[in-house]
Amino acid sequence: MPEGPEVEIVKRGLMKITGETIQAILYSNRRKYSGQATLFTEILGSSLQEITRRGKWLLFAFNNSMGALNHLGMSGRWFVYEIASSPQLENALALELDFRSMPSSEKIKLFGKFGLFGTLPISLNPPSKTPSLMGTPVEGRQFFYFEEGSSDNVFGRRNLPPRVFEHLLSPHVQLIFILSHSIAIFEDVRTFGYFQIYQRFSDMFSLPSIQDLGPDILDENLDVAEFRKRLKKYPRSTICTKLLDAKVVAGCGNIYRNEALFLAGINPLRKIASLSNEDISQLADSLIRVAKQALERGGSSIRSFTSADGSKGQMQERFLVYGREGLPCPNCSSLIRRDKFQQRSIFWCPKCQK
Ligand SMILES: [Zn+2]
Repeated sequence: MPEGPEVEIVKRGLMKITGETIQAILYSNRRKYSGQATLFTEILGSSLQEITRRGKWLLFAFNNSMGALNHLGMSGRWFVYEIASSPQLENALALELDFRSMPSSEKIKLFGKFGLFGTLPISLNPPSKTPSLMGTPVEGRQFFYFEEGSSDNVFGRRNLPPRVFEHLLSPHVQLIFILSHSIAIFEDVRTFGYFQIYQRFSDMFSLPSIQDLGPDILDENLDVAEFRKRLKKYPRSTICTKLLDAKVVAGCGNIYRNEALFLAGINPLRKIASLSNEDISQLADSLIRVAKQALERGGSSIRSFTSADGSKGQMQERFLVYGREGLPCPNCSSLIRRDKFQQRSIFWCPKCQK
């Protein structure tokens, strides 16, 4: 599951699409997306102004003052590709699709329709002559027709990098944004991800999931007093549990809590009440250090994480305890333990972590 540093890396990859106009949106017919049909229509034609990160959340601001809130969940990934020739759409479209059950050939036709594979112009008006039936009807909701234009290289891949093609055919695609010079694809295999449009960007800041976030591990000036105050609300909880609570500290997940507790020399199962102020300061420092290293190394690519350009991080090669059960502790050579605690794995050195 992507943690703060990985989400930050995804954000940086997405930055290159800021300023681009949304020409078309193709969205999955899963309820969480199809329920936003009207909102999708309302952001068409606007441009993406800014993307910010709060903890593990990404906040998109559009120039029409609307916004979108995105969480990668367990396996959400963004892919951004430049498209050599931007599609010139006559009408902006928001289209609901069943990506899971659409045969690949239908998808190819569909993308041909968006000008990405060829040069066919698009018309929303049923043509007078027999239409070429590419991509019609879709989902029985809307009918779009091609008008016969240049048939040159309609299904060619000339205008798209080959990897885009692979993503477009994936059954795990949830959202596709066709922008003026790019295509941005949100894929989510396990479907715990979240993408919700808001009528006003500013509304998102009053959502509890954003407003209540604790200090961010990627903030080098993380407010230690605030972190301590938030931790101390839960004196009887174990420290490892509360590091996963975004209301206590934002952007920390299972990997970096294990690494930070090791660096701080704190037993993951200690009760918060037993931690001294110094312990908590050391823990805060360790969280900042681990997050900074992770960011510098492009994040941790275990399971599915990649940045928006598809590159993998290197942090997993430097883990001190995470995933190192039975291997020697880098400090004292005792064997690293792995315990299950509240359904999550904790990795720690019984000698170094007291
Ligand atoms: Zn040790």
